[in-house]
Amino acid sequence: MAQSPKKSLDSKLLRFVASGEGERLSAQEILTWALKNFHPGIALSCSFGAPEGLALLDMMHRIEPASRVFVLDTGRLPQATHDLIDRVRDRYDKPVEVLLPGAEDVEAMVRAKGMNLFYESIENRQLCCRIRKVEPLKRYLAGLDAWVAGLRRDQNVTRANAPKLEIDYIHGGIVKVNPIADWTHDDVMAYVQAHNVPVNRLHAQGYPSVGCEPCSRAVRPGDDPRSGRWWWERAETRECGIHVPEEEQGSGI
Ligand code: SF4
Repeated sequence: MAQSPKKSLDSKLLRFVASGEGERLSAQEILTWALKNFHPGIALSCSFGAPEGLALLDMMHRIEPASRVFVLDTGRLPQATHDLIDRVRDRYDKPVEVLLPGAEDVEAMVRAKGMNLFYESIENRQLCCRIRKVEPLKRYLAGLDAWVAGLRRDQNVTRANAPKLEIDYIHGGIVKVNPIADWTHDDVMAYVQAHNVPVNRLHAQGYPSVGCEPCSRAVRPGDDPRSGRWWWERAETRECGIHVPEEEQGSGI
């Protein structure tokens, strides 16, 4: 893993990231700063399965209509998520950059381990997430200077210390922007409702977080919102590897 920022990044911007001053900025202020300094070398990661990414998409679009958004299409997403991608594309008149996993990697994995390998062990689940999500993301981010994610600190133990701005050493030392790190779920829903932002229809069927179809399920009212993702694993391992280094997956970091 690279331990230094991407060489082409401006040192003044890097000093701002390191200063911690970003913590004082609102989500809109931090996005304005990021788009001004990195667009078009910055893109939003949106799963189309949680309201956070869609609220950010709306905010970014208001600041910069040509702002970029991408989705990792693992090949196992539910139809509701594909429908929402097209709905958003039409509503904002914005291309959504769809990232696909390497066909040969998927073919070799399912040939060796079966279609539903993820239920059999944490290692198998992490292998599937790595091939279908982590590797395509790595390839895509290699062409950017910064990316935006919808992490919130109260979502999971693995996200409790997420800063609003950081250097992402997992992905070549580019800048990672987490504008709503300090928002609550209610803050997100208030934004979504106030701006009539489209969200995944499966939320109304009890899915607070929609990922791949075989790895997501509805939860009971009051349950931990992320408990419907990889529900057969401990909370500490329930990350796909996009936001944590490979060597730390499953360690609760
Ligand atoms: Fe595979 Fe499930 Fe991860 Fe999707 S969420 S990439 S199906 S293990």
